[in-house]
Amino acid sequence: SMFKSGFLAEVYNEKPVGSPGVDRIVTRFPPEPNGFLHLGHSKAIAVNFGFAEYHDGDCYLRYDDTNPAREEEKYFTAIADMIRWLGFKPVKTTHSSDYFDRLYELAEDLIRRDGAYVCHCSKSEIAQQRGGGKGAIPRYACSHRDRPVDESLSEFRAMRDGEYGPQEALLRMKQDLESDNPQMWDLTAYRVIAPRKSDAEEKTDSEMADNEIGVHYRTGNKWKIYPTYDFTHCLVDSLEGVTHSLCTTEFETARTSYNWLCDKLGVYRPMQREFGRLKLSGTVLSKRKIMALISNGHVRDWDDPRLYTLIALRRRGVPPGAILSFVNGLGVSKATTTIEVKKFEQSVRQYLELAVSRLMVVLDPIPVIIDNIPEDHLEMVELPFSKDPEFGSHHVPFTRKVYIDRSDFRETSSKDFFRLTPGTSVGLLKVPFSITATSFEKDPNSGLVTLIHARYEKPEEGAKFKKPKSYIHWIADCPSLNSPIKATVRNYNPLFTCDNPDTHPDGFLSVMNPHSEEIFPNAMIDIGLHEIIRKAPWPRANSEAAPADDLKVSPETVRFQGMRVAYFCLDRDSSADSVVLNRIVSLKEDAKK
Ligand code: ATP
Ligand code: MG
Ligand code: MG
Repeated sequence: SMFKSGFLAEVYNEKPVGSPGVDRIVTRFPPEPNGFLHLGHSKAIAVNFGFAEYHDGDCYLRYDDTNPAREEEKYFTAIADMIRWLGFKPVKTTHSSDYFDRLYELAEDLIRRDGAYVCHCSKSEIAQQRGGGKGAIPRYACSHRDRPVDESLSEFRAMRDGEYGPQEALLRMKQDLESDNPQMWDLTAYRVIAPRKSDAEEKTDSEMADNEIGVHYRTGNKWKIYPTYDFTHCLVDSLEGVTHSLCTTEFETARTSYNWLCDKLGVYRPMQREFGRLKLSGTVLSKRKIMALISNGHVRDWDDPRLYTLIALRRRGVPPGAILSFVNGLGVSKATTTIEVKKFEQSVRQYLELAVSRLMVVLDPIPVIIDNIPEDHLEMVELPFSKDPEFGSHHVPFTRKVYIDRSDFRETSSKDFFRLTPGTSVGLLKVPFSITATSFEKDPNSGLVTLIHARYEKPEEGAKFKKPKSYIHWIADCPSLNSPIKATVRNYNPLFTCDNPDTHPDGFLSVMNPHSEEIFPNAMIDIGLHEIIRKAPWPRANSEAAPADDLKVSPETVRFQGMRVAYFCLDRDSSADSVVLNRIVSLKEDAKK
């Protein structure tokens, strides 16, 4: 476990931290509700929830909702869903906005302690003061820095009361301009995110649409000013009694300011520690880029199975346990871990191998008529669900007409092809004897094989049966048993043609793989699917008891291996009379693109 040794064990040993009155570990997962979680976030989730769980402590889900311009209700719900899906349960759910009143008081307190001042400089002036921008000059304090405390206090109240518009006034922390750390150069504590009162009043209601700048999803129009991350995060950690504030290394330099603010206000100071981000190569994760993929029609939506958002991985059928075991396997340290999506898929494949049942799936069927089997012949063949006998088995019909996959037949034989060709034999998985192709028919227009004739090699009494070199999967035509089950299969391939779309010089949109989705509209599944659906925690139309709301697991929990083909799950586009499958992963890494 990643908590037993290494970085997180060292962090734990730095105790005792213990917040006032609480002698236990408290962590938080603090997403900004401004987008969907992706695979990278699952590391932060596993670290924060896992660390608390491992040490018998509490982890909170805290929405860091301090920027009303970027937040939407749908993200709140989706974030909570994904945490639950990964198997974690926040001890409580909080919002930074729960503390807006308290944070405001602390800001006034900070001003009184001569730790903050109201500044009216522009963005570019501030950049210059910080020694940045064109023609950079050494850092210097602005004229507002030394204004009297009372003046800052009344100006801050004026900000609160809507007398300033955005960019016209800021509350800045009075930190240390001599420090080498840019995170100490008078960071912004509060900014105005709402039109000035006099401007707002001129607007009609319809002009002030929802989610417009300055209207907060939870606090509405109450606030014109909003605290920044730098002001909010450490103080809310403190107010909530967080012991270990675990975040990613880009916040390392912010730790100084985190500590400074808590100390300056004389409040309890949690321990911020930083771990390395999980970076994925071979895909893009940033919101802006995913939005471009959607608007250009390269993917359908945020849960398109070709993406690595958590909702996309769920829809594609990746089990939450596979994600957790992947993250656990990477371990946690200060170093950023860059992983190719192929590596992730390998880990999903390993997980599924032992976890799911097996069925026969024919992606691109060709009918085979076995001429020496009578029309009305019906024989049941037993198919184990797995190598593991615990999974049990099911029975499928074997009849005169079966379907095999197009890739398992060739018109001419060759030394390196051990499946079906005219004159050669192949085994049908679990069928007692092999078949030999005798002739085939082709569509003159497409040139595609449309029908194969074959012979069943059941030996004469007393004769010996010669085992075939290989076995292929198949599905019999048996209308009375509703075999086969017809399906549409969606195979997913990499979205990009290179491993570094994020940094490609011509931009990620120039390296799109046109074959990232392959559709097989005529696929077939053996009738064992019914049993797998029955066993999956998926609500069924005629089930006696409706499952409790939080048990309403979706179709992707119907997962199985199509023998010799790939791992699949049901897609939510499936309905009572049409089955849609997603390919979760191929069976082998080098499967064709
Ligand atoms: P993104 O820009 O990718 O959405 P973010 O940092 O803006 O990432 P937040 O919503 O602020 O996302 O993330 C919540 C928590 O998840 C933060 O503590 C952040 O450090 C962590 N996190 C985000 N991305 C990763 C990642 N790739 N690996 C590990 N932790 C991450
Ligand atoms: Mg963030
Ligand atoms: Mg984010």
